[in-house]
Amino acid sequence: MNEHKDIYKFLLFIFCFFSAFFCFSQNEEGKNVFDKVVIDAGHGGNKPGALGTKFKEKDITLAVAIKLGKLINEHLKSVKVYYTRVIDQDIDLYKRSSVANKINADLFLSIHCNSATAKTAGGTETYAMGLGKTESNLEVAKKENAEILTEKGSLENYQGFDLNSPEGDILFSLYQNAYLQNSLDFAAKVQSQYTKNVPMKNRGVHQANFVVLWKAAMPAVLTEIGFISNPKEEEYIGSEYGQWTIAACIFRAICEYRNKVDNLTDAIPSIEKLIPQEVQEKENIRKQNEQIEQQRKQEEQKQIAEKQKQEQQIAQQKQQKERAEQKKKEGIDLVYRVQFLSSPTQLNNNDSRIADLEDVFSYNEKGSWKYTAGLFASQQEALDYQKKVKEKYADAFVVAFYQGKRVSIVEAKRLSSQKTQ
Ligand SMILES: [Zn+2]
Repeated sequence: MNEHKDIYKFLLFIFCFFSAFFCFSQNEEGKNVFDKVVIDAGHGGNKPGALGTKFKEKDITLAVAIKLGKLINEHLKSVKVYYTRVIDQDIDLYKRSSVANKINADLFLSIHCNSATAKTAGGTETYAMGLGKTESNLEVAKKENAEILTEKGSLENYQGFDLNSPEGDILFSLYQNAYLQNSLDFAAKVQSQYTKNVPMKNRGVHQANFVVLWKAAMPAVLTEIGFISNPKEEEYIGSEYGQWTIAACIFRAICEYRNKVDNLTDAIPSIEKLIPQEVQEKENIRKQNEQIEQQRKQEEQKQIAEKQKQEQQIAQQKQQKERAEQKKKEGIDLVYRVQFLSSPTQLNNNDSRIADLEDVFSYNEKGSWKYTAGLFASQQEALDYQKKVKEKYADAFVVAFYQGKRVSIVEAKRLSSQKTQ
């Protein structure tokens, strides 16, 4: 087994050396080398990839792939677009990069959607081939690689590939080594475009071993355009506007990368120019409707709060009445209150002047409405409460009622002493 691996490694070294040399000599001639891109829509057919609540990964990746191809055909006419699939079709992973190798493509781009059990997980990330350094990178690669387990004749097509072995990792990374720097460079450009233009977190550029990138003999990346398991992101990557924006981001990254490798200064269209007008108009209408809906919800919540407050007040008043009645029942017909306000007209129940006070009671005296707060069986209790009322109404004073009628404090004292005798 070990001998086998050594031969493998040697052959790979030779392969990498020559491919690097080949690229270099092409550049030396100064000819425009960047003219073929392979766009790979992840999954397809009976391999749907990750599932959202409304969308399937295979449909979103294809929609974005087609949109990206259209942008290249329209705005980058010197670059030819190749797809690994243009319909809902199952294609083995190893065949996807072999298409790119056959035509000697300059870039291989595999489009995917991420997923996680936590619905809050979100963001975009782009991978180049390499050793997965963190658990989460390995997880993403494992998920995307799992497809080979259901392919026919897997073993022959993926010789030397072991999904879980670190040695397998080393073999894979050798194939892509010659192109690693360019792959990472392109991946960084893609992420930078996402960061500027899509409403998702930038999860960065990483390296992990993806079977689909494994034998690509050219710069190759796998981009995860968002989490289908996150409801907000699923909505976005499932929408026409979201897909066009993502395609426009990748397109701009391709332009930047091409300018760099071919030493060009070609102008790159803005995102707005790349998204079809009718898609933008629809998005504007959607945003407006969303805003209206938000305002409606806010208004609704305000009304609910208002109603709750009113209900609370009614309940409070009812309680006060019950307390007063209870006191009456208990035979306390001499009560004390704190008078704080006099008004020529009767106040509304929700008047702010009586809002914070307890047991508000009003009575009419010589055509004027007097307002009192609190209900006490002793003058001392009323005097204590008077201090609190005075914080707002400096002139507040204690008044007494006997059997519902206002009596003077002197009279109340007399009645009180009679009672205790
Ligand atoms: Zn995928």
